[in-house]
Amino acid sequence: MTATLDWYGCATFALRTAGLTIFLDAYVDRSANAAGPDPRVTADEIDECDWIVVGHSHFDHLYGAERIARTTGARIIGSYETVRVMEQAGVPLEQMICVAGGETVALSDDVRVTVLPSQHSCVWSQTAMRQSGEVCLGDVGLTWQEQQARFQELVQHFATALPQESLHHLLTAQQGDRGDGGALVHLLDTPDGTLLYQDTSGHWSGIVSGLRPDVAILAAAGRGNVDGEPVQGSLATFVGREAELLQPARLVLCHHDDWLPGFSVATDLAPIRAELARRAPATELVELGYLDGTPILP
Ligand SMILES: [Zn+2]
Repeated sequence: MTATLDWYGCATFALRTAGLTIFLDAYVDRSANAAGPDPRVTADEIDECDWIVVGHSHFDHLYGAERIARTTGARIIGSYETVRVMEQAGVPLEQMICVAGGETVALSDDVRVTVLPSQHSCVWSQTAMRQSGEVCLGDVGLTWQEQQARFQELVQHFATALPQESLHHLLTAQQGDRGDGGALVHLLDTPDGTLLYQDTSGHWSGIVSGLRPDVAILAAAGRGNVDGEPVQGSLATFVGREAELLQPARLVLCHHDDWLPGFSVATDLAPIRAELARRAPATELVELGYLDGTPILP
């Protein structure tokens, strides 16, 4: 058997393996002028899904899960906050599994997912995403309150600087989350091999170190978070270091497209490729197009 991966843009994928369709995040809808599948697909059109595995509860990951769950009956695995938001959106509790990291959930007789605690990117540290080779230093040791004050600058920036389409989409997609809800990474164990899924650029070094999945999907957006502090270096430094820790055979990037124009950037892959060559030369970078059904495992 061969597992395939379809990228819906941002950090959302459909993984097909061992007779299952597993959505990794559920943000299928895109801002009207954003990069994404063409013709556009919305969450309302997804009619085949068994499980939705959610990394964190921000709208650009979770928005759409409520409709996919309703249409398909798929079960949602996510943080307690993800489940709270989905319950509020009308998804029955018995259709969801709350996780915090440490759980292994059987998705079928031969597919399992192990949930691991993780970190969200330092979204408070920038009002616009920087290019992948741009070095950012400092901002270390800030308190929660100081980070919140910085985050308010980003909120102000959104209100004044986002193009109308992006702002409209942002307001439409709000689901009343209380922050990221605690970021998680998911390690899927399938008959075709193992796949690690991360949907925001952050990690606990001790947790990801030495996992060696066959495939790692890693987020490449914003300022990386290493053990609770912003990376001292560039996004490319961050991704390269993660690949060095994880040592995956293959690497797929996510969150690196221009998903929210005015805030996001179309990420330059050249600095990331250079860091990967230096730090994880055995890892193959696999570039996915939108919805191209790339064979990914084994
Ligand atoms: Zn997020």
